[in-house]
Amino acid sequence: MTLRIFNTLGMRKEEFKPLREGEVRIYACGPTVYDFIHIGNARAFIVADVVRRYLEYKGFKVTLVSNITDIDDKIIRRAQETGLSIQEIGEIYSDAYFEDLAALNIKKPSINPRATQHISDIIMAVQKLIEKGYAYEVEGDVYFDILKFDDYGKLSGNKMEALEAGARIEVNPKKKNPADFALWKACKEGELGWHSPWGWGRPGWHIECSTMAMKYLGETFDIHMGGKDLIFPHHENEIAQAEALTGKPLARYWIHNEWLTVNGQKMSKSLGNFITVKDALKMYSPQVLRFFLISAHYRSPVDFNKESMVAAKANVERIFSALERLISLKERDKNGEEDEELISQVQEAKRKFEEAMDDDFNTPLAIAAIFEIVKAINIYVDRNDEIGTEAKKEVYNVFKTLVEDILGIKIEIKKKYLEGREEAILKNLMEIILEVRQEMRRRKEWKISDEIRDKLQKIGFIIEDTPKETRWRLKEETH
Ligand code: AMP
Ligand code: ZN
Repeated sequence: MTLRIFNTLGMRKEEFKPLREGEVRIYACGPTVYDFIHIGNARAFIVADVVRRYLEYKGFKVTLVSNITDIDDKIIRRAQETGLSIQEIGEIYSDAYFEDLAALNIKKPSINPRATQHISDIIMAVQKLIEKGYAYEVEGDVYFDILKFDDYGKLSGNKMEALEAGARIEVNPKKKNPADFALWKACKEGELGWHSPWGWGRPGWHIECSTMAMKYLGETFDIHMGGKDLIFPHHENEIAQAEALTGKPLARYWIHNEWLTVNGQKMSKSLGNFITVKDALKMYSPQVLRFFLISAHYRSPVDFNKESMVAAKANVERIFSALERLISLKERDKNGEEDEELISQVQEAKRKFEEAMDDDFNTPLAIAAIFEIVKAINIYVDRNDEIGTEAKKEVYNVFKTLVEDILGIKIEIKKKYLEGREEAILKNLMEIILEVRQEMRRRKEWKISDEIRDKLQKIGFIIEDTPKETRWRLKEETH
């Protein structure tokens, strides 16, 4: 089946065709590392992760490049506030970012280029833009001249006139046009910077991304992603810079995710309505958090509130409990008639899952297909206490592929390890403990043997010594 993607460039769904057969190259804007990421940022990274996982499932070799912005006004401010160096701030928060990715079961991007390690590539790109007449230097700053780039505004739909009107308030006498943007910013001696043909300075944010994207993915790649705030000006400017340089489209499909909101408002640092991934994981499991973040389509907002989190938790429990029930079924050699029926129901749900994901990564519909499998398993387990070994394996494997491999919700089931053997294990363990105690009694080590009995009693066992043997049972639980 063909995959269709909503392309912000053109604002319509298009059939996805990669540039190179069997291969997909993606660039997703990464974090500015000045603080811990919040679950709004996590939404953007999980959307990219699910896109990547689904394309991998479809058999593509995926290269996902996601940058780390480690030089920026916010980082500099943070360094001043804390007394730490800019490098230290960058290191602390990029380590924390990778920790959060791992905790949320987000696959590590194939390459994580850092802006500060690509300064010479950036300087070269800026120089070339000046040579080609797209950029100009003023007192150590370099600006992109948007009037020179005819296609400016093609991604965001921001027309030049609107830009000029909107930008009138900004007074920067250095710019020819208020909407021109900085490719290189002069900075004072003593501030973090690099030598350049225009003096001591540092790169602008937009040129970092387009330079690193093209370095690792080529002049034109398949997909460029990020949250919708990046459409303008960040991605519009990336297009202008890159296409002015190469004369070729930078990316073919532009994917932008909607907000994670709180009471309908964007979760953001500046509004102070954010919760970091680290804090959220103290309250919810990674599975619940991930489920919640993909429960809405990526182009719809998703609101973080108590009810939605209670619902996400209940849904994850429903999914895992069906899987536990499936696993605890006894196995028999041959598949029966009902087993075949279960398999065909599961295959049908898998087909619906793929259909949903093929339609612009429609995760809520894909999740609905998972619940069809949950329902089929529950009906089966209500009626049977055995299942054919092959059927069990097949249903489990489909489940694992869809839930864990594609949606990234790691399967976690207690019974997977014990598989209904808890009782037998408990009996065997008690036998060993009581044998040791018996031996102590034989040796008249009364103190140790009494201690073992007392400790067992404390954790809920009743131990009775009779002349013939020692018996044990569990104390009735009282609530
Ligand atoms: P930043 O570090 O601010 O550049 O953000 C990293 C990524 O998170 C970008 O793709 C943003 O668009 C995205 N992002 C930030 N806030 C939210 C939010 N509340 N909901 C969804 N995505 C967001
Ligand atoms: Zn970017």
